[in-house]
Amino acid sequence: KKEQLQLLASVEAITKDGEKIRLSANISSVKDMETAIKNGAQGVGLFRTEFLYMDRPAFPSEEEQFNVYRLVAEKAGGQPIVIRTLDIGADKQLDYLPLQEEENPFLGYRGIRISLDRKDLFKTQLTAILRASAFGQVKILFPMISSVEELLQAKAVLAEAMEELDKRGADYNKNTEKGIMIEIPAAALIAGELAREVDFFSIGTNDLVQYVLAVDRMNEQIAHMYNPFHPAVLRMLRMTVEAAKGAGISVSVCGEMAGDERSIPLWLELGIRQLSMSPQSLLRVKHRLLNTTAADARRTAQECMKLSNAALIEQKLAAAASSVP
Ligand code: PEP
Ligand code: MG
Repeated sequence: KKEQLQLLASVEAITKDGEKIRLSANISSVKDMETAIKNGAQGVGLFRTEFLYMDRPAFPSEEEQFNVYRLVAEKAGGQPIVIRTLDIGADKQLDYLPLQEEENPFLGYRGIRISLDRKDLFKTQLTAILRASAFGQVKILFPMISSVEELLQAKAVLAEAMEELDKRGADYNKNTEKGIMIEIPAAALIAGELAREVDFFSIGTNDLVQYVLAVDRMNEQIAHMYNPFHPAVLRMLRMTVEAAKGAGISVSVCGEMAGDERSIPLWLELGIRQLSMSPQSLLRVKHRLLNTTAADARRTAQECMKLSNAALIEQKLAAAASSVP
C-alpha cells in the first residue's frame, strides 16, 4: 500500500471530473523539505519558523535566518514557499525569552502580538525573509491577526525592512506577496476589510476551531468537543472564502483539517483549491482526491451545510470518504 501511494508523488492532484487542488506542505525545518519533495508537494504552504528559534541559547541572527529561508526557497525549485513570521507563546516557548505566566496562554501574549511588541526581532526576521525572496517564490504570512490595525502595523514594519534593504542596495523581490492567517474568529468576521490589505489568506483551522468553539486544543478532557466539522466552523470557513473571492485574493487552508480526507467535499463546495498539510499526509489526501467525483462530493457537502449537528456532519463526511476506494 505504501509503495502504491508513493507512485502518486508525481501524479497531478485532480478529481475524477477534472477539478485540480494544489497540495503543498507544512514544514518546520529544512529537513522537512526532503519528505515534502519526495511526496510531491507543490511548494510550501506553511513554514512554521518558530522551530528555528527553539532549542538554542539566543535569537537567531538575520544571517542565520536568511541562510535557512534561502535554502528552503532554493529547494522548492520555483514553487511558492509561504514563510510565517514567528508564532511563539502559548504552547511554544523560548528558553531565552521568558514570558510571564498567564491565566489563559492561548488568549495571551503570542504570535503577531509579540512581534509587534518586539519590532526589533520582527524587523530582523522580515529582513531575512525578504532577502530570501531573491532566491525563489517567497511569500510572507502573519499569524494571529485579529484586527486591521494590527495588520497595518505589521505591514509598516515590513515597509521598514524593505527600506533598510534598499539602503544596503540588497537584492529582494519588491512585490513579495503578503498574507495573513485567518485563525481568530474576529479575523473571519472582518475578512472583507482584511482582504483589501493582503494578497492571500491562509486559514489556520487548528486555532480557529479552538477559538470558535472555546475548546482548548491541548486539553484532553474536552478533546471530544474539538470538532472541525461543527457548523459554526463551516460557516466561518464560508465567510472567509467569500471575502477572499470578493476581493480577488487567494485562500488556502493549512490547519490539520486540510490533511483530513473527510474534508475534501467541503473544500470542493466552498471553492478552496489550495491545501497545505504535513508532508506525511500529502499522498493519502491525493489518493482520496483522485478517487473523488467533485459533483457527488459537492452534493454531500451541501447536505452537511444544512445540518446543525456536528456529529452528524462528521458521520456523513466519514461515510462519503469510506465509499470511495
Ligand atoms: C493553525 O492554527 O491552524 C495553524 C496552522 O497554526 P499552528 O498549528 O502552528 O498554530
Ligand atoms: Mg495557529
